[in-house]
Amino acid sequence: MAFFGAYPWWTPEQVEFQKKTAEFLDTLVEEEAKSRWTREFPFELYEKIGATGMTGAAIPKEYGGLGLGATGSCIVAEECWKRFPGIGRIVVGNFNGGLRQVYEHGTEEQKKRMLPPIAGGEIGAVAITEVTAGTDAAGISLQARLSDDGKYYILNGRKRFIVGAGVAKRYFIYAQTSFDPADIKKHKHLSAFIIHSDLEGFHSEKVNEILGFENVQNGSLYLKDVKVPVEDRLGAEGEGWAILMGGMNFERTNISATMCGLHRGIMQYMIDYPSRRVQFGKPTIDVPANQDKIADIVMRAKLLRDSVFVTAYKWDLDMDITIDASAVKGIAAQLALQSGDDATQVLGGDGINRFYPVQNWFELGKADHIAGGTVEACKLTVFRMAQKKMKEDTTMPRRYLDPELRVPIPTYKPVESKKPATAENLLELLAENYLINPGLHMTPGDIMLYLDADAEKVEALITELEQAGDAHTVRNRKTNLATLVAATYPGLDKAHDREWYEWYPDYVTKDPRRTF
Ligand SMILES: Cc1cc2nc3c(=O)[nH]c(=O)nc-3n(C[C@H](O)[C@H](O)[C@H](O)COP(=O)(O)OP(=O)(O)OC[C@H]3O[C@@H](n4cnc5c(N)ncnc54)[C@H](O)[C@@H]3O)c2cc1C
Repeated sequence: MAFFGAYPWWTPEQVEFQKKTAEFLDTLVEEEAKSRWTREFPFELYEKIGATGMTGAAIPKEYGGLGLGATGSCIVAEECWKRFPGIGRIVVGNFNGGLRQVYEHGTEEQKKRMLPPIAGGEIGAVAITEVTAGTDAAGISLQARLSDDGKYYILNGRKRFIVGAGVAKRYFIYAQTSFDPADIKKHKHLSAFIIHSDLEGFHSEKVNEILGFENVQNGSLYLKDVKVPVEDRLGAEGEGWAILMGGMNFERTNISATMCGLHRGIMQYMIDYPSRRVQFGKPTIDVPANQDKIADIVMRAKLLRDSVFVTAYKWDLDMDITIDASAVKGIAAQLALQSGDDATQVLGGDGINRFYPVQNWFELGKADHIAGGTVEACKLTVFRMAQKKMKEDTTMPRRYLDPELRVPIPTYKPVESKKPATAENLLELLAENYLINPGLHMTPGDIMLYLDADAEKVEALITELEQAGDAHTVRNRKTNLATLVAATYPGLDKAHDREWYEWYPDYVTKDPRRTF
């Protein structure tokens, strides 16, 4: 079995699909390579891909798709990018441009109407970004105002950096439908629409010259009084942000799969090229520095692919992949750029010469630091979500002071008995915390583990100690309630004499020259 073959959990249909997809895409390689030189978008090539139905890999069969889940779409993304990242980006852009959003938020009528064209290979795009909305995607200001008769929305504004702009027929577009500051604050000001390029007032404005984009379009859109029927709004008005975030998980998983394809593309040139390139009388593959880079590329490819297809599988099992999708995309882009960098170095001057394709994958590794949400944006999602959804994994174990060693010892056991809620006991607790968790404050929640008190009582005790100068606090700016508390130096002195806090390792002797 090929090293980058099927995973054990793939269904027989998914295994067969990977084989057939790879075989078919192999037949298009020459045509695609030529279009990289002419640089015109290869419509015919895309039509051939679309006709296979592979853009509907993740669409259920009842809506005209192949029913192969996110695993199926990741197979397509990976196999395309191994051979031709340019056109592969448009293929992925097609299913990112509405597939998941329609499937999750569309009415039955919308699913029946909108999913078959995606599965049939109609070129689609997702349009979020604007001058006012980059990483801050909620800053969208393209307006959608409901007409007086309530039959359609009138869209006005611009989008930029859109993959497929000017060649796509279908655009999954986010627009501002509420201008109420309260809605904006709650991210209820956006709505999602599917619109088509033949609508009056819809134009592409520009083609960007993006790093690594050779035969593929990225550009701006211009919408002037575009009338979109109400039936083409996805989800309720104001639900756009939730739809955008859900769609982003699918998009990031698929983009990560393209980075697997990028690794596999590069690897085709990592053994055969240096085995034939001779310097100092021997092939450059014998140079340890090159071997090191090649091994790094294979290691990254292996780890990344496992993570991507596990994420896709979790998605297919209907598990929440919010953290997984952003984590894997953030890492994928970084690994791709490192591998692109190493690969170009192994090839020397040929690595950055368009007569070999490695330079293209290298450049695209950088482009994907930005596309689909920057690496930093992915990290932001991971950091925020980790605090919400990984509480169990990120909770520090409770610690206690070992009576003999007098050092902190972690434990997962609950506190055996709570002490009465008095200011003296709280001060004692803060003094112990000085030794158990050096440098740290306690939260009211920490205190409630040890004292028989509710939140109100704890707040009262903290305030009492604070007023006596025995504790200092960090307080919530709005509620003025204490969120963190620690003993002051006078408080520590009041709780115990100096010797109680002392601790020296055994090797410290009572040498009189020491300053005890
Ligand atoms: C190749 C490519 C394809 C794209 N395809 C599409 C597409 O099909 N559809 C679409 O809608 N958009 C697309 N985009 C746009 C892309 O999503 C945005 O470029 C991206 O979200 C970043 O926005 P920006 O370029 O405005 O950078 P900015 O938001 O201006 O960010 C600049 C820098 O600041 C950092 N930064 C900003 N805010 C924060 C923060 N709070 N914390 C940490 N770092 C921060 C960013 O990470 C970045 O490094 C594409 C972009 C590229 C390059």
